[in-house]
Amino acid sequence: RAKKNIAENFEYFAPEIEEKTTWQLNMIRRLRNDFADRKLELWFQPQVDLVSENVVGMEGLLRWPDTESGYISPAVFVPLAEYSGLIVDIGEWVLEESCRRIQELKNAGFGHLRVAVNISILQFRDRQFIDKVKAVIKRFDCDPSKLELEITESVVMDEPQIVIDALRSLKEFGVAIAIDDFGTGFSSMSYLQKLPLDRLKVDRSFVNDITPGKSAVIAETIVTLGNKLGLLTIAEGVEKREQASYMLKLGCDEAQGYLFAKPMPFSELMPFLKERTGEQGSP
Ligand code: C2E
Ligand code: MG
Ligand code: MG
Ligand code: MG
Repeated sequence: RAKKNIAENFEYFAPEIEEKTTWQLNMIRRLRNDFADRKLELWFQPQVDLVSENVVGMEGLLRWPDTESGYISPAVFVPLAEYSGLIVDIGEWVLEESCRRIQELKNAGFGHLRVAVNISILQFRDRQFIDKVKAVIKRFDCDPSKLELEITESVVMDEPQIVIDALRSLKEFGVAIAIDDFGTGFSSMSYLQKLPLDRLKVDRSFVNDITPGKSAVIAETIVTLGNKLGLLTIAEGVEKREQASYMLKLGCDEAQGYLFAKPMPFSELMPFLKERTGEQGSP
């Protein structure tokens, strides 16, 4: 965990722990170097409106190129970036990169599209976080409503007051807010009212299994909850046509998943958008 001091691990001498620690420290060193050398990439996965299937936005997802395995998964290196504290600087770069892309999209006639970014709890604990977000938006002169911050339930539960205050201030500034992986964490329902939310992201695990059963019931309940709270809902991890139709039937507004598009580098996103709209979008 991020809070834990790295040195604590050296109190144990079980070989496998020692080995894991060496591996972690090695990875952290490589990540720090590669980030400093600007080798990290921010890819984008389109999000569509479930009725029209028009692209309405995209989620920015970190990619770490590796000579041996192609790319190291963020599921592997984001926890290490948190453990080492590197995520604060990496997260700031992700915000810059996203705002730069929002501006580029606008210049290409896609000013209506929003870009969502994942925010780590360590970024909220950074006292300068709110000012950093506002400064980046101003620097790139982007419409703040086109930037969406994604937070998980565990981020809210970790530091409720800090997170609520930060999100209220950023929402006032015009930024959009989404709860990521909704339904997988343990959150108090009361936070749904305290947080200035725009969107609930229905976790992939509930969308995957839409055959009659528990998961379908949970997906339905989350969509109903979102609708009743006046929030937009988006289904994560839609891979099959039936999943899209089912989520649409439940009243879910939007979707993201391999059925529509995989995450792609920005250089591929532009041609993808132009092909899908058949023309340039309207600014
Ligand atoms: P997430 O925010 O829930 O992102 C969605 C993940 O689902 C992405 O994995 C995406 O590639 C994957 N996905 C999308 N559609 C499908 C589908 O149809 N099927 C399947 N099987 N998977 C799908 P990815 O890119 O590996 O990212 C994993 C996690 O790493 C993210 O989960 C997020 O928690 C974290 N992450 C990624 N980028 C950042 C970042 O910039 N900052 C922070 N703090 N975390 C990040
Ligand atoms: Mg996300
Ligand atoms: Mg998610
Ligand atoms: Mg997820």
